[in-house]
Amino acid sequence: MPARAKVKTSPYQPFIDALQKKQSELFDSFERDKAAGNAQPDDGIQDLADKAASAYSKELNFSLSDGERNLLMLIEEAFNRIREGTFGTCSNCGNLIGEKRLAAVPWTPFCIDCQELQEKGLLS
Ligand SMILES: [Zn+2]
Repeated sequence: MPARAKVKTSPYQPFIDALQKKQSELFDSFERDKAAGNAQPDDGIQDLADKAASAYSKELNFSLSDGERNLLMLIEEAFNRIREGTFGTCSNCGNLIGEKRLAAVPWTPFCIDCQELQEKGLLS
């Protein structure tokens, strides 16, 4: 039996997959910009997360748009919430975030109500 560190039974797995996919897309566009011959990472959540963390303060800032950078940060935070076991609850009010909403935007830190407040600039 091959030894794999990855936990396959997490209830968060569909969200982890979706987050990793989105993160890879963002990194892919970054890699294209860089036009470097680095090997593509094809492994676990930890490596991608580390890459994101170390890239924030570096040239990634110059290659990605504000929106893309913001999204990468939200994805990072979502991974943190998964590790802490708080994923799926609103970072503002603590209510559960709807499953449909999580499926559509798994990186969102807010429930739909708080998201509206945030978009109106009413969230501190
Ligand atoms: Zn909320």
